[in-house]
Amino acid sequence: MIAPWLEPPWRRLAAWGRTPPHALLVRGRPGLGKTALARAYAKWLLCESSARADTACGECEACQWFEQGNHPDFRQVEPEFLATDAGGEGEAEETKGRGNKPSRQIKIDQVRALQDFLAVGTHRAGLRVAIVRPAEAMNQATANALLKSLEEPPPATVFLLVSSQPARLLPTILSRCQAITVAVPQRAQALAWLESQGLRDPEAALAFAGDAPLEALESGAAAGLRDTLPALLAGDWDPLAVVDRLQAEEPVAVVDALQKWVYDAGLVRTVGRARYFPRAAGAVGRLAQCSPAGLAGLGRTLARARAVASHPLNPRLFMESLFLELARVQGCRDG
Ligand SMILES: [Zn+2]
Repeated sequence: MIAPWLEPPWRRLAAWGRTPPHALLVRGRPGLGKTALARAYAKWLLCESSARADTACGECEACQWFEQGNHPDFRQVEPEFLATDAGGEGEAEETKGRGNKPSRQIKIDQVRALQDFLAVGTHRAGLRVAIVRPAEAMNQATANALLKSLEEPPPATVFLLVSSQPARLLPTILSRCQAITVAVPQRAQALAWLESQGLRDPEAALAFAGDAPLEALESGAAAGLRDTLPALLAGDWDPLAVVDRLQAEEPVAVVDALQKWVYDAGLVRTVGRARYFPRAAGAVGRLAQCSPAGLAGLGRTLARARAVASHPLNPRLFMESLFLELARVQGCRDG
């Protein structure tokens, strides 16, 4: 059962049946379920039953292998950090053992391993399917390696690229893929779905996730910064005390929440309402009174911070610098 907003792109995929073009690009905002859609299609392409005309049967040997993550004709290529997040126990240990943080890029070795896999025939005499996600995690060299496979596709092979930032992909890759777009659902549809998933306060979660329902579901359970940041930044606040209270939060999440906070300040200033923190328009409003130049500068500071937020040298100092800057900008009201 796929989420309702995935049904239109699913119908486009289903129109190809089990003979799609050799390269597809599933694109759309983060947090909409693009990978779930690609996996559902991969499973159907590999399903060996004809019991269902428009979806995987879920019962045949192939479907069971797929579910268990060991279908011999399927590969999912993704950065290490995603593979370890997914709880692949052995892999996580291995990565830790080397003392490195898991890579956020898809490495060229991973694409070469995929090509080795595609160089031998299919195991089940059907299709072979490879998901590459997120495709923008390939650097230039890696993307060029994959491009060779897209230009001269091995027989009976389907590539499913998944991307939230297709503009970052090589034009030569884009031109070889048929694009399937996953659109942001209507608010009412997303809220109804979140309620059906048993999420507490779906409205606040959906707003904070920028209307992306899967992200709302994942982050919604731990309301965290969505609730604490407005409380901490209401009234007069002390930057160092705020950082004390946020010690348990990931710097990446803090930067993300601050970027939303600053975005909302700009929105409150121009149209009088907030998008990500709709119930905190009052607290956001104080920042909204500072100069547009100050807000824009703060936005740039946060964008730079975001680039290093996954590995700050000193997380505490990193967060202090952000809240000191926020306090400074907020103190500079318009004349
Ligand atoms: Zn099946």
